[in-house]
Amino acid sequence: MSSHRGMASRPGFPLLSSLARRPKVTGPRFQSSPPDIKLKSPREIGLMREAGRLVARALDEVRRMAEPGVTTADMDAAIAAVFREHDATPLFLGYPSSVKGKPPFPAVICASVNEHVVHGIPNRRPLREGDIVSVDTGCKLNGWCGDSAVTLAIGQVAPDVQKLLDVTQETLNLAIRAMSRCRYWSEVASLMERFVKSQGLYVVEQFVGHGIGQSMHEDPQVPNFISSVLRKHDIRLEPGLVLAIEPMVALGTKDVRTLGDGWTVETRDRRPSAHFEHTVAMTPEGPRVLTLLED
Ligand code: MG
Ligand code: MG
Repeated sequence: MSSHRGMASRPGFPLLSSLARRPKVTGPRFQSSPPDIKLKSPREIGLMREAGRLVARALDEVRRMAEPGVTTADMDAAIAAVFREHDATPLFLGYPSSVKGKPPFPAVICASVNEHVVHGIPNRRPLREGDIVSVDTGCKLNGWCGDSAVTLAIGQVAPDVQKLLDVTQETLNLAIRAMSRCRYWSEVASLMERFVKSQGLYVVEQFVGHGIGQSMHEDPQVPNFISSVLRKHDIRLEPGLVLAIEPMVALGTKDVRTLGDGWTVETRDRRPSAHFEHTVAMTPEGPRVLTLLED
């Protein structure tokens, strides 16, 4: 699950309740104080790897279901079953809404179809040939969290949509590769942004990645683009840092809006967008992806 870039998690305050304390949210705000980053020990990263492996197993399950006729509710049930079988706690179910008066998130996965960017709610509409669906999920296992997302094609998709999927996946991959040689996240974010732009596509800026550990959303916020605030409070890529990296890329515009359900985020031009995410730990040997099936 991506973090709204206006929200800063603070020790002792659940991410979203800290927002609910504000009388009114007038627009996106950047985190303006230095992030409170909790570095993880090798043992803790090992525990996060187990949570991450289970998330990968759950996503692998839906990858094999991705055919015309399947519903996102079916995918939600399949992933819920994987977590239940391993005594893992789903992280999204019951997550409080950032929109005042809206219900908590009602499912184990976010399923965002076509123009939906993130935080879509699973439903019983059968997916059709040519749709794309972003499936995002996370769990807590033995006290540690994993978070990952993949966008799947349903059958054959249009060439521009296939390019969107390829570019978004490659944006995540190039970020992970760059983490082995870059010293600061701003360098990685700049590479991600430049690559997306070079392909004629748009980085969604309203939502960002995040630190992750014993909570799903920890400091720092991890934007997929460069900003003056990121330059001011840059993130040093040092051993023990664990980030959920999640580029969201759109075909026609970076502008998004949240629907009346308080959750689903869609592009303002209602053209498709894609989203890929991995939980990645910095180790002395370099970046290590924790949300893969195999090492
Ligand atoms: Mg996620
Ligand atoms: Mg996330």
